[in-house]
Amino acid sequence: MSADSALLPDASTSDAPVCARCAAAGPTCCSLTPGLEEVCFPVSEMERARIVEADGLAVGGFVHQANTEAFLAQMGRLFPRDRKILPRLFPPGGDHLRLAVDPKGNCVFLRADGCRLPRDARPYYCRLFPFWLNGGAVTAFAAPGCLVHRQGRTVSRMLALLEYGEAGVRELHGRLRLAWGLPPKEGMPFVTPSPARYRP
Ligand code: SF4
Ligand code: SF4
Repeated sequence: MSADSALLPDASTSDAPVCARCAAAGPTCCSLTPGLEEVCFPVSEMERARIVEADGLAVGGFVHQANTEAFLAQMGRLFPRDRKILPRLFPPGGDHLRLAVDPKGNCVFLRADGCRLPRDARPYYCRLFPFWLNGGAVTAFAAPGCLVHRQGRTVSRMLALLEYGEAGVRELHGRLRLAWGLPPKEGMPFVTPSPARYRP
């Protein structure tokens, strides 16, 4: 994926060669360990609507997941400087949407040859993985199963493997924050998000 393709509409479904090799070798970031569904990333209303429009999905694809302590703790690890905001976006006792998975933990949009969704319709978290932003710096998750991580080892080499630019990561991360109801950057004042964009 090129840096520009992270910023511009990209209707293709084909993944980077390194991700195709990863998929051929075994489970990828599109599968979770059964039992860990509650800490899966959320899907906002805006992301859900985009997936439904792109996929022609009538039913299925998403499930309601309770805003448990484990989920909020996981969100706190992703957004350590936004911890105070998180319970307002994901109130304890409420729920949020996440991608549905099969009994083996595979995302329901996963086919044998990869994700069936056009890349620009995938959830922001999927498009960003394995990259993240921490304190303004582009970082990568410690994901031992990720071939990009195993082959690249450093963030700059991982970015190069995916032909991804830091600017693209920053842009996508900002869009993810907005979609999930957070201010676009850490430290900015919280404004209650529009229900059309974000619905807990
Ligand atoms: S939506 Fe696509 S990219 Fe995201 S987890 Fe599911 S199969 Fe993978
Ligand atoms: S991002 Fe990493 S885990 Fe996901 S398909 Fe690519 S190499 Fe595999």
